[in-house]
Amino acid sequence: MRLSDQEYNRLLLLKKVRTSEPVARIDLVGLTGLTGGTITAITADLVKRGIVIEEKVASSAPGRPRVNLRINPTGKYVIGINATGDGQAVAEIVNLRGESLGVATAALKPATRIEDLAQQFVAALEDAIAGWPVKREEIFRIGVGLPGIVDSRTGIVEQIITFEPGPCNFGEIVSGALGIPTLVDNNINLLARAEHWYGAGAHADDFTLINVDLAIGAALYRGGQLISGAHGIASEFGHTKIMPDIGRPCFCGANGCLQAYCSIHSIIEQSCERLGRQMPSHEVMNPCFDGLMAEYAAAEIDIRTVLEQASHYLGIAVANHITMQDPEAVIIIGPPVARMDELRGAFFTALEQNTFPALRRRTRLHFKPRDQGAYARGAAAMVLEHVYAAS
Ligand SMILES: [Zn+2]
Repeated sequence: MRLSDQEYNRLLLLKKVRTSEPVARIDLVGLTGLTGGTITAITADLVKRGIVIEEKVASSAPGRPRVNLRINPTGKYVIGINATGDGQAVAEIVNLRGESLGVATAALKPATRIEDLAQQFVAALEDAIAGWPVKREEIFRIGVGLPGIVDSRTGIVEQIITFEPGPCNFGEIVSGALGIPTLVDNNINLLARAEHWYGAGAHADDFTLINVDLAIGAALYRGGQLISGAHGIASEFGHTKIMPDIGRPCFCGANGCLQAYCSIHSIIEQSCERLGRQMPSHEVMNPCFDGLMAEYAAAEIDIRTVLEQASHYLGIAVANHITMQDPEAVIIIGPPVARMDELRGAFFTALEQNTFPALRRRTRLHFKPRDQGAYARGAAAMVLEHVYAAS
């Protein structure tokens, strides 16, 4: 799903105002490449809707006073909320500039129905809103991030691991209970949005983000837009095949998926098989992984072949992606793992050997530890993109 030209122009203009404010209309011509007429028409509408404010600048020069534009920092706020891997809901409220006004966390009770999770989100949001210094009617939109298969166009959740299958109209449950329009998306898409809006290379327009977590996900920004695919599901990078037909089984029903070898879940599973241990329950996967890595670092267990194979296959998958897509940058987000540095050798060797020669060493690679707050910021950024693009 791509934005129309009009939506794209509006979004582009507002992003440039946000990063360059205070800024005059005339300067936006050079910054956006849009014509003066288009800028005048868009900004007039944005000022009318209270998204942009005008600021007259005193000048001793003759003629009309210069008028600068800024994003309105008050009166309209958006909330991003996400479920973390350790059973918490994290909500953040930001103004239209994306500046945070508050963060709230709530413990989530174990649930098996997606509807019950939605109700817990409603309760967490009610508590958070009551504690923030913002009037309820000033909350313009809510953005929800979920670790599952989500149709971002409709807010319908199809599947979340460990929950009964959907569909569940998650967006409608939240918006119906709170009376605030709600958007829902896959949380990897939200990580990419957080990167685009708030990351070190903020406003990087062309990158692929790969998230190595209990599962493996990826999201693509191209030309300043998140690419969500014709059916709103892109991209299921973790289910591309690295060992087709004969490989390890994946929860999706296929064999040999990338995440059957490289996800945290599968690394734990392969390590437990090797060590003759019981597979831990889903809720304690993250501490179990930390424990395994500590044992490995202390040379108490030998899971080097599991870790090296994971690094090797991830290198091949990233090489295939670069060969297919030629992105400007690839950002790999993962756990801050002890001795990960020594495993990078296997990753980079596989990357070098399997990338198309003309594309080798051209794509910038960044490794970043996971930041749990990034999901909620990304959910807020999703809403800002929506508010900015909408006419
Ligand atoms: Zn799969």
